[in-house]
Amino acid sequence: MNPIILRTLSYGMYAIGVRGEQRPSACIVNTVVQITADPMVIAVSINHDNYTNERIKATGEFAVSVLSENTSGTVIGALGFSSGRHADKLANVNYKVLREGVPVLREDICCWFLCKVVNSIETLTHTVFLAEIRAGSDEYKGTPMTYEYYHRVIKGKAPKNAPTYQIEDDQQDTSPEESYICTICGYVHDDPQHPFEELPDDWVCPICGAPKSVFQIKG
Ligand code: FE
Repeated sequence: MNPIILRTLSYGMYAIGVRGEQRPSACIVNTVVQITADPMVIAVSINHDNYTNERIKATGEFAVSVLSENTSGTVIGALGFSSGRHADKLANVNYKVLREGVPVLREDICCWFLCKVVNSIETLTHTVFLAEIRAGSDEYKGTPMTYEYYHRVIKGKAPKNAPTYQIEDDQQDTSPEESYICTICGYVHDDPQHPFEELPDDWVCPICGAPKSVFQIKG
């Protein structure tokens, strides 16, 4: 079977907040699904190499912030393309810390909920956590960001640890030859209205916030 057909599956965009050893941390996932209604149980799949995976196993708790279409690409980049093991990924992100020590975003999210792990399943590369919702927002606002919106409108890419990552994500090249690619997150700047060379020196990657200097000509 051609794995490309799995791109027909639909996903959302979520920040998973955890209590870190030094400080709160968070990462971006697209695989949060409701499993049962009573009790309210969700499942989330997180790569073994992610610091978030380690911290959920250590604490048994995490928070889900449901991103909206207004959540900026920079927030997604800050949480999605580096590890919280050594860096403070939330340094430039507006968030609050729940009593349990886990962070929830304040950056144009739709809603949030706090989860307690009730079971988990190991796969070759990812842990699937089953978790019961213990608290959360009473209402939601805005339009939830879908994974399709993230790719199509924000032009975001899937990092290698994403459950839905495909090698083609790196190899797809429909942009003109003179476009520039961010070497951190893979964002391609190919806006003919604003050529890369004419962007101001303090311009940063809209996805991961990296400076102009890390961009390379896509060839
Ligand atoms: Fe970037």
